[in-house]
Amino acid sequence: MRQALDWQIATVKDIRPETAKVKTFTFSLPNWTAHRAGQHYDVRLTAEDGYQAQRSYSIASEPERQGEIDLTVERIEDGEVSSYMHDVLMKGDRIELRGPIGGYFVWDPESPEPLLLIAGGSGVVPLMSNSSR
Ligand SMILES: Cc1cc2nc3c(=O)[nH]c(=O)nc-3n(C[C@H](O)[C@H](O)[C@H](O)COP(=O)(O)OP(=O)(O)OC[C@H]3O[C@@H](n4cnc5c(N)ncnc54)[C@H](O)[C@@H]3O)c2cc1C
Repeated sequence: MRQALDWQIATVKDIRPETAKVKTFTFSLPNWTAHRAGQHYDVRLTAEDGYQAQRSYSIASEPERQGEIDLTVERIEDGEVSSYMHDVLMKGDRIELRGPIGGYFVWDPESPEPLLLIAGGSGVVPLMSNSSR
């Protein structure tokens, strides 16, 4: 059985600008598993000399969507991973991802309890995952 901490090779299916500094990337996942709103994926980049950089990004897509996820990334000036994703990554490229990860800051849309979500900056991303319904 696939573990969330196994790396898999995702393919960039789509890239959409949200604002001047924010883009949403849709990744097709060969080993997709359902996530809960609030979980994240890790992205790992490997240079030709073997140097690796790894960052976490919250899942922006709704849990009902199968086989793919959206990650919404703010471009940080001089940021190693976010600027690569904004400036270099193109549709059709392949990239290492692992997830879904995290079980503390999660919620279920079906839960009957009242839910108050407040966020700023890229903190809005997990809120975008709060189901399309
Ligand atoms: C659980 C989790 C979820 C997250 N979700 C999201 C999300 O949904 N969307 C999102 O956009 N981000 C999210 N983040 C943040 C993301 O993981 C990265 O931290 C962010 O993208 C910056 O990474 P980077 O590699 O681009 O920048 P980095 O290379 O890590 O640099 C960050 C900043 O530090 C500065 N810096 C780097 N090196 C040095 C140095 N040696 N000296 C001084 N300054 C330096 C850079 O100039 C830059 O301003 C999340 C983080 C966590 C932990």
